[in-house]
Amino acid sequence: MIITPSQIKEIKKEAEREIEKAQDVLSLDNLWKKYLGRKEGKMNDILRGIKDLPLDQRPQIGALANQVSQKLEEKINQAKEKISQGKNKSSVKRDFTLPGRKIDLGHEHPLTQMRWKVAEIFSSLGFEILDGPEMETEYYNFEALNIPDGHPARDMWDTFFLKGFSQKKIKTTESEGKLLLRTHTSPMQIRFMEKRQPPLRACVIGRCFRNEATDVSHEHTLYQVEGFCVDEDINVSNLIHTLRSFLSLLFGQEVKIRLRPSYFPFTEPSFEVDFSCLNCGGRGCSVCGQSGWVEMLGCGMIHPRVYEAIGYPAGKYQGFAFGIGLDRLLMMLRQIDDIRWFHSGDLRFIRQF
Ligand SMILES: [Zn+2]
Repeated sequence: MIITPSQIKEIKKEAEREIEKAQDVLSLDNLWKKYLGRKEGKMNDILRGIKDLPLDQRPQIGALANQVSQKLEEKINQAKEKISQGKNKSSVKRDFTLPGRKIDLGHEHPLTQMRWKVAEIFSSLGFEILDGPEMETEYYNFEALNIPDGHPARDMWDTFFLKGFSQKKIKTTESEGKLLLRTHTSPMQIRFMEKRQPPLRACVIGRCFRNEATDVSHEHTLYQVEGFCVDEDINVSNLIHTLRSFLSLLFGQEVKIRLRPSYFPFTEPSFEVDFSCLNCGGRGCSVCGQSGWVEMLGCGMIHPRVYEAIGYPAGKYQGFAFGIGLDRLLMMLRQIDDIRWFHSGDLRFIRQF
């Protein structure tokens, strides 16, 4: 019998392949017999044949054969250990009657809950719910809304300006002015009217930004609900009815409202709306400052200059628009005393909702 080193290596490879495939201890025992067994083991055949080799080859082949035998023995033992470990694992007793581990899912932020609620009410009143860019241009945030450059009303909506005139997500021309973080959701009035013709009824709920010092009732980031309705025959009584319906549906009871004259550049006439204090029923308490009324929102009939900016024919359409602070509305609804809680990230606050 002629034995070469490559023959031994071939046997080793074959054995290793089989060991890897073996699924149980019995087949590993059989492999041990097949390769290392004293009687029929392939490696023993080799060792037995060494004595027939020329003298100078014996040490080299003998050493290699011993080395391979040792290696295979090790591999078989390792494989056996692996199998018995797996068995132990799967034989661990499980008690399927134990209660399951609770998965902490969390819940929506109170402001998000409020957004859905408000959107649902306005949908039920026939308003389309719109979304809009938080990054706006000076044109949409101010000029188209009758607040030209240098107008003192711009001070009421001081904001954060962004560098440059154009960014990937919002295509602007230089005439639209600088990019800024929108101070109100009103720019969407313009964007929507540019695309569509009346009759229009839409509601925009979204995040707005103001460059101002924060205190219990002011935040740099806030949510606004903007509603508007444009058609050929819309008047203030439609506005009053819409607001009263909205507030009554939100608070789940009949709510009285009153209008006071006010000023906004994009509406004429403009009003501030108060509603009867739900805490005291209008008799006067600390929530309403003893007046029986709570200040709620600003509104008015859309200014003709706004239609002009869009390009609607002069005098053809009328419409109303209103803006409600979602944060303040939620504060009133859930008696929250500080607007800064909303963005505080404090879980003790969030978990109460
Ligand atoms: Zn009150």
